[in-house]
Amino acid sequence: MNEQVKGHIVSVDGPVVKARGMAGANVADQVEVGQRGLVGEIIEMTSEIATIQVYEDTTGMSPSQPVIGLGRPLSVELGPGLVGGIFDGIQRPLKALADVSGDFIATGVKAPPLDREKRWHWTPGVSQGDELAPCAIIGEIPETSALVHRITLPPGVSGKVVSIAPEGEYVVSDTAAVIVADVVETEVKFFSTWPVRRARMVGKRTVPSEPLITGQRVIDFFFPVVKGGTAVIPGGFGTGKTVTQHQLAKWSDADVIVYIGCGERGNEMTQVLEEFPKLKDPRTGKPLMERTVLIANTSNMPVTAREASIYTGISIAEYFRDMGYNVAVMADSTSRWAEALREIAGRLEEMPAEEGFPAYLGTRLAGFYERAGMVEFDGRSGSISIIGAVSPPGGDFSEPVTQHTRRFTRTFWALDKSLAAERHFPSIHWMDSYSGYIQSVDRWQREKGGAAQDWNPLRARAMRLLQQEDRLQRVVRLVGPDALPDDQRLILFVADIIKQAFLEQGAFDERDSYCPMEKQMKMMDCILRFHAAGVDALKTGMHVVALMNLDVVDRLRRMKTDVPNDDLSQLDAIRAQIEDATTRLKKEYE
Ligand code: ADP
Repeated sequence: MNEQVKGHIVSVDGPVVKARGMAGANVADQVEVGQRGLVGEIIEMTSEIATIQVYEDTTGMSPSQPVIGLGRPLSVELGPGLVGGIFDGIQRPLKALADVSGDFIATGVKAPPLDREKRWHWTPGVSQGDELAPCAIIGEIPETSALVHRITLPPGVSGKVVSIAPEGEYVVSDTAAVIVADVVETEVKFFSTWPVRRARMVGKRTVPSEPLITGQRVIDFFFPVVKGGTAVIPGGFGTGKTVTQHQLAKWSDADVIVYIGCGERGNEMTQVLEEFPKLKDPRTGKPLMERTVLIANTSNMPVTAREASIYTGISIAEYFRDMGYNVAVMADSTSRWAEALREIAGRLEEMPAEEGFPAYLGTRLAGFYERAGMVEFDGRSGSISIIGAVSPPGGDFSEPVTQHTRRFTRTFWALDKSLAAERHFPSIHWMDSYSGYIQSVDRWQREKGGAAQDWNPLRARAMRLLQQEDRLQRVVRLVGPDALPDDQRLILFVADIIKQAFLEQGAFDERDSYCPMEKQMKMMDCILRFHAAGVDALKTGMHVVALMNLDVVDRLRRMKTDVPNDDLSQLDAIRAQIEDATTRLKKEYE
């Protein structure tokens, strides 16, 4: 850490401030700006003039006010107290600030991100004299009923334990251990700090293949993402980005969720803040907030803090990954983040590139998504999956943010305007979306050998039907459905069942909001069984309408809500009914 530098303001342009007398400070250093000591970061240095982006409202700030360079980069605090917390883009704890200044948080109000007074129960996991590898776990604090906070050595620290705090109650600023390596002693506290813009790299990167189960059929079954993978949800206004992100935050089988509400409208964020604390994890029955960290930057907060928010979020995610957890990061919306980047670049009078975005938009996006992945170290592994929403103006996917994001992510969930208009939700279009993880998930499912081991062949058959339907629809538009032969009309009919009974999933329907993988498998098996039995029955020369009128069709259409997640035997009964009904029908015609 360098010495503090004291200078003064020479100009103020919205969130961008220039200060003189800053020789000795560095780009990326954190600064305190003006009388109220607002948080800022140096983004450019020329001899003694620093250009600073300020993370709070600069109204009332004027030349000659003081600027103090703190001699360290913009950092986050990492330690017990993160989970269940609600922070702004630069990790100011919104609840603690509201307690100090009321619902409208005044500028310059200060509170440390982690509560300094709260006592945590600590149990050490190592003893004096133990030799520790980098990132070793030295003990545990049960942070919430859903999450054990593992205290690890910070990156770069390893060696022999000189002393370790005995079991007891501690505050985050207490010393957990003293470690010695080459006669240099390092004090390890219960919390640490990390510069947000630097990726925290530990261990060895491995190729992720375990699916992140989200309980959303169109995702898990058709376009899966893996733990440690990346996905993007592009979609115009009102197509369902936020609802989808909320669904993923609620239901994904990650250990920790970091939700970055980035430039969302205030009322959407309020919805998250009100709704999340009431939700329960379907697997553990514990409140979902007990594994969630919320970063809230609504559209009325300064754009600079919005720019920083995704780095704050990902740094927190890396910290939990290094404990050996699977973390899922949702960012909604990265377009609002890119707009913040554009606005700041404009104020810096940088040369604009495509649609006014700075030329480094792509590099910045790549830098963010590269922080996803799975790592292995010290006998454990952890992962970060990143799911970013993009809101292209007018729903046009050829704009720069969607295009760049597409290059750096492997799963593409294309939200479709016309599906949303028909109220087909989630409006993820099966013909425009893709997942780059099909092969790896297939391998993983087969190795695991559970209920979903036959997932890929089943998926391929369903996908083929949807593709055939897409082609046939073009013919139908020209000549109408009645001109098609019966086997093709059956394809249209079954594809329609796939769309309505499987792909459509009501986020607000209690019985359908979450669909376990085993149910997804059995549901699709029933639909495809119906198709196969139908193809067979048509060989007798019967009319396709006889199949369409079978009672079981109605059961297929309603099975997602009729069959509860804890009684899947009803799906076996539907499958048996398909066999019976089609066999009977065949006999009648033969
Ligand atoms: P966006 O963030 O893309 O502007 P929203 O996520 O706010 O769009 O979705 C707009 C509306 O679409 C929601 O208010 C809701 O009525 C509907 N919707 C979106 N997804 C679903 C879903 N999975 N289930 C039911 N309704 C949905």
